[in-house]
Amino acid sequence: MELSLFGDLNQRNVVNSGGYPIPANFFDAFSEMARQIWLLHHLTFSFDLEALIFEVKKGCRFSKVYMESVTEDAFLSMENPQVSFTVVPRFPIANFKSAFTLEDLFLTQGICEKTRNSNVPMSKAENITDIFEISGYLKMLQRLEAVKTRGVSYSNITFPPSKHFTSSSNVINFKQLHAKLIRNGDMENILTVGKLVADVAISNPANLSYARLIFSNLKYPPNIFMWNSMIRGYAHSSTPKEALILFLEMREKGYSPNNYTFPFLLKACNQLMDLNLGLGIHGIVIKYGFEDCDVFIQTSLVNFYASCGSVQIARLLFDRCLQRDVTSWNALIKGYVRSGRYMDAIRVFRAMQDRVDIEVDEITLLGVVLACSQLGALEMGRWVHAYIEKSRMEMSMNLGTALIDLYARCGSIDLAVNLFKKIREKDVRTWSVMIGGLAVHGLAKEALGFLSDMQRDGIDPDSVTFTHVLRACSHAGMVAEGLRFFDIMSEVYNVEPTIEHYGCMVDLLGRAGCLDEALGLIKRIPYKPDVVLWGSLLVACRTHKNVVMGEMVAKEMLKLDPNHCGAHVFLSNIYASVGQWCEVDEVRNSMKELGIKKSPGSSLIELDGDVHEFVAGDQSHHQTNKINMMLDEIARLLSLEGHVPTVKGIPYDIDEEEKEQALSQHSEKLAVAFGLINTKQGTPLRIVKNLRVCEDCHSAMKLISKVFNRLIVIRDCSRFHHFSGGLCSCKDYW
Ligand SMILES: [Zn+2]
Ligand SMILES: [Zn+2]
Repeated sequence: MELSLFGDLNQRNVVNSGGYPIPANFFDAFSEMARQIWLLHHLTFSFDLEALIFEVKKGCRFSKVYMESVTEDAFLSMENPQVSFTVVPRFPIANFKSAFTLEDLFLTQGICEKTRNSNVPMSKAENITDIFEISGYLKMLQRLEAVKTRGVSYSNITFPPSKHFTSSSNVINFKQLHAKLIRNGDMENILTVGKLVADVAISNPANLSYARLIFSNLKYPPNIFMWNSMIRGYAHSSTPKEALILFLEMREKGYSPNNYTFPFLLKACNQLMDLNLGLGIHGIVIKYGFEDCDVFIQTSLVNFYASCGSVQIARLLFDRCLQRDVTSWNALIKGYVRSGRYMDAIRVFRAMQDRVDIEVDEITLLGVVLACSQLGALEMGRWVHAYIEKSRMEMSMNLGTALIDLYARCGSIDLAVNLFKKIREKDVRTWSVMIGGLAVHGLAKEALGFLSDMQRDGIDPDSVTFTHVLRACSHAGMVAEGLRFFDIMSEVYNVEPTIEHYGCMVDLLGRAGCLDEALGLIKRIPYKPDVVLWGSLLVACRTHKNVVMGEMVAKEMLKLDPNHCGAHVFLSNIYASVGQWCEVDEVRNSMKELGIKKSPGSSLIELDGDVHEFVAGDQSHHQTNKINMMLDEIARLLSLEGHVPTVKGIPYDIDEEEKEQALSQHSEKLAVAFGLINTKQGTPLRIVKNLRVCEDCHSAMKLISKVFNRLIVIRDCSRFHHFSGGLCSCKDYW
């Protein structure tokens, strides 16, 4: 059987990495294995595991009988791993141990019991068999190593170059050093050679192959320090998988990892963004007893889970950390920001400030600023700005850029411009953020002014800058200028238009009513049009009430994304508008079948440093009574001004706000009412909304700004509206 296995493997797509051939699907298999171990861990009884382990120790192969002895629950959950993952945080991670004894067995016992036919759906038991099939890979690797398949290129995976090394360490210097060691007979000295391997491996990823050469040609077995150095080098390289392959090789050769090994392995998993691999490594950490006693490993784990989107697990581990340094606090904040849990990020920051032993650093503040700008929490952002000035921290370019972005996103474009002028060092990102900020505020002329200033400063616009410039033209309806910039970006600045730029152009043409031109552009672009691109045209069709093209566009979108909510709603609305009720039912039913729900409208408003969220029709806020009274008062005053609520069910309306919901209960109206109750006369109200503002809310806001004499700034999903004195900055063009 071993021979046939080997033969089978030879036909697989084999990649040659570092002189060590690996089946192309090895890592997929490995992470699948880690996932299943994880499932086994928390869904099986340890008794069954013990039984399995016992049998394997006796030299028995896993038989179907044993696999079936794993509880029914485990099997059930494997059919739906997503469900299992959501329950993961509830399980005490410390109970990993027994599961990872199994993991050991998987790695060392080369068993392959079945040849899987991919056309036949796998039974539950075969799922498990897969694990053992995978474990066969390591043995295969060893055999393959003997054969040394040559001439197969490493073609299937590329990673962005690592940013961690800027060193220009010259490999020639290392070669000279190496030669000297050989000449002096020092190659026998394991400590000296270890230092050489470490220096070469860590100096620069480009030198890794040379380090590997020294490492693999030693006359004696390398020590753990050398293994760690190699693993560390690869973890920071553009081929982090190599770090894990080396680790497996190291364990195969009987070495035990030490506490230095794991942070590098987790770094590699982090780079790969592979949660399952990290879970496997975490299991081994526990097995070696490092989880509860090593601060670096704990911090690496928090960092790993936070970066891979498992912020609950990160939090669990964070709470259990022996010591929390600023790195682990920052990792947690970053994790919350990445998972869109911005309020939690700010809560962590506040808890951090209560600690005397932790000093906030630039990375902390960057995380907080990012959270604030997403929440539209202007006051909190201003507080961070003041904090930087008070604590005499240096306003770095990164922090400055993030703050400009925050001010712009929070509707305070003046503050953004002021800060921009104060910052001495600016790069293309800083300029682009400023131009982008002006663009979403509809200040196209100013944005173009900044573009000229930027060029005068000797900084060339890049791809991102042009996206903002085109967007500025689009929001202001400046078609001719937009077309001109679109031409010069590639002709003069060598910036090839991306699908995003084309999206801006479709938007620009579409808004201006040039629907045929927009459609023509979509057909001409060198990329496959995506849902976003079609979506821009759909919005234009809605605005300009072009039913025929809209229907075609919506259908194109559904081909690409059958679950697209906007396209479904649009179709349903146009059919309703012409009385084709059968089609309406069809669309509605398919939405139901696909489980598509319109996302509810939600608005955020900040008051005294706290962010309040209102969902359309929300009656859960503790001030609901007062808010409803205020809404009645608003309605009364607006009707005196001649406001007639827009009739519900505008046929072409694709706003995802619940139609059934009374217009007066739209989330931004709730937020405005709340703001009017709780702030002093004259205080501007700033609201962040997740969807587009609907027509009724837009005209109501204009009048509210006049009647109550308030500046109301609403950021919806596409731009800013500054309502003041009965007018909006978008000039009703949005
Ligand atoms: Zn509305
Ligand atoms: Zn507006």
